[in-house]
Amino acid sequence: MPNPKDELSGGCLCGAVRFAIKAPFRPVIQCHCGQCARWTGHYVAATQVATEQFKLINGSDHLAWYRSSNRAERGFCSKCGSSMFWRRPDDGRISILAGTLERPTGLKTSHHIFVAVKSDYYDVRDTTPCYDRWMEKTDTAKGEAD
Ligand SMILES: [Zn+2]
Ligand SMILES: [Zn+2]
Repeated sequence: MPNPKDELSGGCLCGAVRFAIKAPFRPVIQCHCGQCARWTGHYVAATQVATEQFKLINGSDHLAWYRSSNRAERGFCSKCGSSMFWRRPDDGRISILAGTLERPTGLKTSHHIFVAVKSDYYDVRDTTPCYDRWMEKTDTAKGEAD
């Protein structure tokens, strides 16, 4: 079912960074890997759009990128520390952490990834599919998150 909204806006905790994204929105994927845990303090739940569907409204001087692996980088506010974006440079897409979006979002979670390596202090109890690591349930060869 298409999202009832064609545009969502969001921003960081302090308000310095504001952005808008245009549909189509990927369903939310929740990632339980160790990198996402350290970056956010818990885990990442993110939608995704094509880069041209993303517009930074303000805060370009506060939006900073941390290169978390040789394939990916993570965008955050350098003033308040909010975790906001994940991308692989040049793949044409940007992931947006769903909690930064104005509510209601109209988004739904499609599945969980890296459940096999999640921390032990919580359970994943919803009914969406869970994958050990990436989308392939039995594939542990791809191993590492980024
Ligand atoms: Zn901020
Ligand atoms: Zn992750």
